[in-house]
Order: sequence, then structure tokens, then C-alpha cells
Amino acid sequence: MADFPRLFNLTRSKDLLVANLKQPNTDGWAFQWRKPPFGKELDELGVLENIMEKVFIPYDRADQVTWKHNLVGYSTKHAYRFLEISPSCLDKSYCKIIWSPFTPSKVSIFAWRLFLNRLPTKDNLIIHGVDLASNPNCVLCGDYIEDLNHIFATCRCSQNVWKWVCCWWGVPFIPTANAPLLITELCSLMDARKSWNCWALSILTTAWTIWYFKNGIVFNKLNWKENNIYGLIQAKTFCWIKGKSKSAVFSFGDWCQFPNLCADGI
Ligand SMILES: [Zn+2]
Repeated sequence: MADFPRLFNLTRSKDLLVANLKQPNTDGWAFQWRKPPFGKELDELGVLENIMEKVFIPYDRADQVTWKHNLVGYSTKHAYRFLEISPSCLDKSYCKIIWSPFTPSKVSIFAWRLFLNRLPTKDNLIIHGVDLASNPNCVLCGDYIEDLNHIFATCRCSQNVWKWVCCWWGVPFIPTANAPLLITELCSLMDARKSWNCWALSILTTAWTIWYFKNGIVFNKLNWKENNIYGLIQAKTFCWIKGKSKSAVFSFGDWCQFPNLCADGI
């Protein structure tokens, strides 16, 4: 259906299996069309017939479900192994950050899309046919084309937010022009496991908040007020950590002033 949409639309026999289409003892196929294929439908039919010519149907055996990645059959273990070696599989270092313990699932899914460059940034929307070519620039600074690396890594507005978060945690901010690399490098600045979980949450929440405010500017006419952004990052991280850890007994004031000490005490 996905590979031959025109033919699928044209056929009367949408539910038939390939074996049902094969005419016994002949080389022909029993297609039933609503009308004779024409133009691009004929192109699709040529490709389909080419594939079907190679199909051998063992009429003496019952139908069974098979999985092409493993002769024995489908199992989640083999599916996982297949995904691990797949070129579209995310780097394992990204996975550790995305699924860090205090991070809520909506932020994890946002980060997953960020690492895969699947967020609807203006350049991605233009690629998918959205008419933004006359106004492709970043809604934060207005100076450069809005793509993943600009919006999260090189835009002066988002850099100010990263600088502030690093200052809050007492770590150096080293600019990087690549957004996934910026996030992984920032996360690598903290080693201790307890602090790292809160630090990774703060990093992902920062990226999520930049995106949240960017969308607020586009859809709700929000203004880019950095103090509001800082406050939201601290409030969200505080609530999410408190929600996931009973041993997080520090106050919001302590969290804002001494995030390292609070994280170490969890
Ligand atoms: Zn910008």
C-alpha cells in the first residue's frame, strides 16, 4: 500500500494476499482493477510485477508470519538488537541523557526529537513544504535562519540562557555550534551520579524552555524575557525533582541558590 499507492487505490482486491492473486499453473496474476492502469499507475505496475516475478509460492504449506531480520521468528530481543545496529539508532550517550531519571517523559520525547533533528524548526518546516521561505529567520534574534543548531546553540538569545544556567550551577559555559554536541558536552561537565541526574534534567529543561518560549512568541505573542525563562527553568526542575524523589527535602530558595548541594543530598 505504501509503496504502490496508485495501484492500491485502483485495485478491487485490497484484502487479498499475494498467494490469492497468483493464478494456479500460469505465470499470470489475477489483478482486478476498477479501471485499466494508466500513466504512473503503469509505472507502479511494472515495478510490482518485477518484484512479484521473484515470488515463489509454496502451495503445499500453510501460511505463516515471518520476520525478515531473524529466520527463527520475531522476538523483542532480536528487534532490540536490530534497532541497535540500525543507522537511525541514536548514540548510546544521547540515550543516557534523554532517559535520565528525573526527566519527565514529555521532556525526554522533546530531547529525543531534538537529537534526531525532528523538531519543527523553520528549516525543517520549509523542507516539508510549509511556506516560510519569505521569513525563514530565527524568531528570537531575527538575524539568522532558524535551524536546530542556531535555535539551541548559536543564537545569542539562547546562549544567554545557557550562560545563566551554567552560572547557576557554577560550571563554565563553552559555546559549541552543534546543538546535540552542546547538550552532551554540558552534561559531561558533571560526574557524580546524584548531581548528574539533576544537572542533566536542568540541561534538558533549559532546551525545552527555550523551545517553549520560542513557540510562545510564535503562537501566543509572548515576549522573550530572560528573567521569566530562568524562573521557569528553576521552578520546573524543582517540581520535577520533588515529584520523583522523596529524599528531595530542600526548599525552592535553596534549589535556586545551591543546586549542587541540593542535588548531592538527594
Ligand atoms: Zn536567533
